[in-house]
Amino acid sequence: MKGGWTRAEPIGPAASDPAPGAPAPLRLVYILGAGRCGSTLLDVILGSHPDICSTGELFHFPESVLDRPQPCSCGAVGNACTFWSSVRADIEQQFPVTDLKRGRQYETTRSLPRTAFLAATPGSSVDVYARRLAVLLRAISTQSHRPIVVDSSKYPSRGLIMWRTRSMGNDVRYIHMVRDGRGLLWSKRRTVDGQGLGLAPRERTTGDLAVWWVLSNVLSTLLFGFRRGRYLRVRYEDLMSDPAGTLERIGRFVGVDLADVVAAIRNQQPLPVGHVVGGNRLRFNRALVLKPDTEWQKNLPPEDERTFWGIAGWLARRYGYEAHAVLGRPGQATPRPDTS
Ligand SMILES: [Zn+2]
Repeated sequence: MKGGWTRAEPIGPAASDPAPGAPAPLRLVYILGAGRCGSTLLDVILGSHPDICSTGELFHFPESVLDRPQPCSCGAVGNACTFWSSVRADIEQQFPVTDLKRGRQYETTRSLPRTAFLAATPGSSVDVYARRLAVLLRAISTQSHRPIVVDSSKYPSRGLIMWRTRSMGNDVRYIHMVRDGRGLLWSKRRTVDGQGLGLAPRERTTGDLAVWWVLSNVLSTLLFGFRRGRYLRVRYEDLMSDPAGTLERIGRFVGVDLADVVAAIRNQQPLPVGHVVGGNRLRFNRALVLKPDTEWQKNLPPEDERTFWGIAGWLARRYGYEAHAVLGRPGQATPRPDTS
């Protein structure tokens, strides 16, 4: 382990104390938000701390080692990645990895009411799936030798299922990443890569995307925002404009000291990328340098911006975003104290 890092604070008991002889508790950091919100970036930044294992959009794991092999950030595809094949071997001592794939049915936004009900019902199918996810998280922690695991899947339903893993002794914390939705619109126009989106990929209109941005953020706030000490809202723009202050706040929330990560960013040292199984393409950079993506401010067509603002402006304003030049004022994210 590299010198100079401060270890994570001891991981205390979660919802229920683990039984005597049970393995040490594990901390899960689950990243929420709409697509293209900078979640993969934050995931990778956190993973550069030696106590944190960054996994990306972990929901991709079962299919990436089964029928739809995907490239891991290490360059290996599917089972060829030694890390993920070791994780698979670990969990298959208890159940086949296809069980995890089946559980994906509970994670869609449409299934949310049913999932919420079943997640609160001991012995239900969702409870069983949560136990499987807890085994997966444990295997990741064991294979990476890191006590904290980050999953940036973003699905609110999966977030609820993860909450259930507290009964298996896990400590679960949520970071809600918010990014100006006009950045999402431009990102969708610019590329056809559907990864990182919380709904089944299909062509969406600007109006659809604006509604989806509102829905993702409102659900993240409603379902997780009331969990005191377990929820932190972070703006992508603040991470970009003030990485030191924002990461200090995130580090305090996660229970690690990110000072060395901040120093690396300040010195423009590339951050290492481990075995990130799904998410934004930036995970394929072998090392990451922080660079704000503000292209939308110059390139987003005015009609897209008007549509977005008409549908989502009320919420964007609450997050401290302002209307852009086409709407009469310069587009800037105004710093605003976070009340969450
Ligand atoms: Zn890998």
